[in-house]
Amino acid sequence: MTIWEYRKPALNLKQVHQLPGKYFGLKTEELKLLPGDRSQNFLVIDESNKKYVLKVSSAFDRTEELDFENQVMILLKRYLPQYEFPQPLSTIEGRLVAECQINGQNYYLRLLEYVEGYYLSDLKSIPEKLWRETGTLLGKIDLVLQDFFHPGSRRFLPWDVQNLLVSRDRLKYVSEPELRRQLDYCLLQFETLVLPNLSILRRQVIYGDGNEHNFILEKRGPETRLKGLIDFGDMTESYLVAEPAVALTYALMKSDQPELTARQLLASYSRINSLRNEELDVLFYLILARLVISLTMAAWRREVEPGNKYMRISENPARRLLTCLLSQNPEKWRRLFYRACGFQPDSLFLQKEKLLAFRKTHFSPALSLTYRRPLHIVKGAGQYLFDSQGRTYLDCVNNVCHIGHCHPRVVRAVTRQMAALNTNTRYLYDQMALYVEKLLSKFPRRLNFCFLVNSGSEANDLALRLARNYTGGTEILVIEGAYHGNLTSLIEVSPYKFNGPGGKGAPPFVHQLPTPDPYRGIYRGRSEKTSEKYAALAAEIIDRLLSENKKLVGILAETAMGCAGQVFLPPEFLKKVYALVRKAGGLCIADEVQVGFGRLGHHFWGFESQSALPDIVTLGKPIGNGHPIGAVITTEEIARAFATGMEYFNTFGGNPVSCAAGLAVLEAIEEEKLQENAKEVGNHFLQELRKLQKNQPLIGEVRGSGLFIGVELVQDRQTKIPASKEAALVIEKMKTQGILVSTDGPARNVLKIKPPLVFTRENADLFVEKLAEVLKALK
Ligand code: PMP
Repeated sequence: MTIWEYRKPALNLKQVHQLPGKYFGLKTEELKLLPGDRSQNFLVIDESNKKYVLKVSSAFDRTEELDFENQVMILLKRYLPQYEFPQPLSTIEGRLVAECQINGQNYYLRLLEYVEGYYLSDLKSIPEKLWRETGTLLGKIDLVLQDFFHPGSRRFLPWDVQNLLVSRDRLKYVSEPELRRQLDYCLLQFETLVLPNLSILRRQVIYGDGNEHNFILEKRGPETRLKGLIDFGDMTESYLVAEPAVALTYALMKSDQPELTARQLLASYSRINSLRNEELDVLFYLILARLVISLTMAAWRREVEPGNKYMRISENPARRLLTCLLSQNPEKWRRLFYRACGFQPDSLFLQKEKLLAFRKTHFSPALSLTYRRPLHIVKGAGQYLFDSQGRTYLDCVNNVCHIGHCHPRVVRAVTRQMAALNTNTRYLYDQMALYVEKLLSKFPRRLNFCFLVNSGSEANDLALRLARNYTGGTEILVIEGAYHGNLTSLIEVSPYKFNGPGGKGAPPFVHQLPTPDPYRGIYRGRSEKTSEKYAALAAEIIDRLLSENKKLVGILAETAMGCAGQVFLPPEFLKKVYALVRKAGGLCIADEVQVGFGRLGHHFWGFESQSALPDIVTLGKPIGNGHPIGAVITTEEIARAFATGMEYFNTFGGNPVSCAAGLAVLEAIEEEKLQENAKEVGNHFLQELRKLQKNQPLIGEVRGSGLFIGVELVQDRQTKIPASKEAALVIEKMKTQGILVSTDGPARNVLKIKPPLVFTRENADLFVEKLAEVLKALK
């Protein structure tokens, strides 16, 4: 146990019973154990029915620290006589701290006056007036303590937010991966946004524990007022702003109107003791810091002291608050804090209009923006995105930040590696072997060779080269509506592009199969029969090519289609087509760029859901959680055949930083069971959407697997005329409701849902609730 992992005494009532008499000349009539964190506290009642608190501290606490606490209580009573603070009483020998020995162990004893009243925590609902009074009292205390110094005030307390980084060590005690991720996210924010600015923050002695169990109330007539404060065991020299940060943390846990409470508490604090801009800038992150400390301490205590319930008293509310705050824009809170303190918040970001003008001047209009009024996103956390104005959006679109925006594991892996080394594949480095070994372990044994590239497009381009080289063929099969990437070679094989606006049609070597869309394709229904019919069309094309003496490269196909409108191929369609392609000497390329890495829930890869075994698999988007990586996985034979004498060199492909990102993604998917989450939340999501479909004629079909879902909007369920205009309106309206979703499909009438895999049931419920409102308002 290290020095800061303090030890609380564990004496029993019998051992303590004679102590008040022996050291303080008090006759103990009644003795009761009180809750306490560091010291063991006892309620002592003497013969005249007067109450006292006996505080027993272990010898781990220095006497200077106990004297420090005593001196502050005395000082506060002197300067703030309108409030009560427990006053230390003298021993028989006239000292404020007694030293005693029990069973060979040293203990320090203090006797404090008991402050009568009841606790703020006793109230079921706390009126705003009382939150204001707590803010005022803490402001006054900090003003009194502004120039106070005591040698005992410099002490290490794990609860002190300035010691947050110590909590990083305790993350290992947090057994739930989701919570661990949230806590690590907060640590990361602290490290990047608070730590570099600590030196400009004011320091002084603070009370440091403004929680509802420490504020004492009294009734005066009809009015309840704040009477005083107890428990000075968390006092220390720290950052002044930690005072309101701690108080706000507890207030937010308790309040059912958190924004109002925060505003009132902070306003009353700053009216007495005004805070500075730089302090308000970090306040939100210090609240998160305090939650991290509470929750990691609780996890640690569970491990070392399974029976100590007191320590875990605020665990559940803390968890709830953490989840709630992480789903809110920190900028909203910063602005709220500024206004509460009477300041006008400055803007931290460039103006949206400026950004728009810049784009117009220097970027091609070919780069489109989403939404009539584009979003200016400045930050992300898990499944949430935050804009420059303080608004929060639930991200239901981004399958690139697969395991959540700014996932701490990836951010840490990338920064650590960037600080150590970034180079290229002409050198040996561990990260590549570690990563590729893990990546290949996710594939059938036959697929055991890997090329690392920088994007899904690059992966598909290389896949085409590999297949052309191996087969010596020229002709390629693709599926109508498919998209495979932005390179010249891929526009040629992407019907989504060459058949779309600005497209020039299919090149002669590209052969399109009709989209095997079970909802609106030329053959319908989700049965193997449907697959057979579509496969027969593929067979026809292949036969024709062979009869024309043309050589097949193979088929390039998504394993569940994204841009085509979240189309799920009928059962074993790919298996059947792959067999035909192979028979004709072609290779089968599975584009997993959209749906790989567990998104489909039931399967890690889309080709598994089709019972198909490809020769080449291409990976992108989710692979690096936003870091640009791509990969091509293939067989030894195909990879070896590519060594024709021409070197394959890719400057960035497979660099150690990318490998670190990729490895972190795979580890997080496993550790946080994100594939399972995709399955469970996805099933729930689909079920709720289907319920909505029952009384919403505009919804033609709800289809999906895991967290890859499509909601197809039609004007009429019989004719299936696409409701394209309505779909465009829906995504605009959903945006104003704080939900980001996009449309796709040839008629852009399919709502495309593919959120980060940390998406929750509550997120799904919110989506369905808002969609119901939006659809209702469309009528
Ligand atoms: N394949 C598929 C199926 C895709 O959806 C995309 C991108 N939307 C790509 C390939 C190309 O990926 P990138 O834009 O990352 O190069």
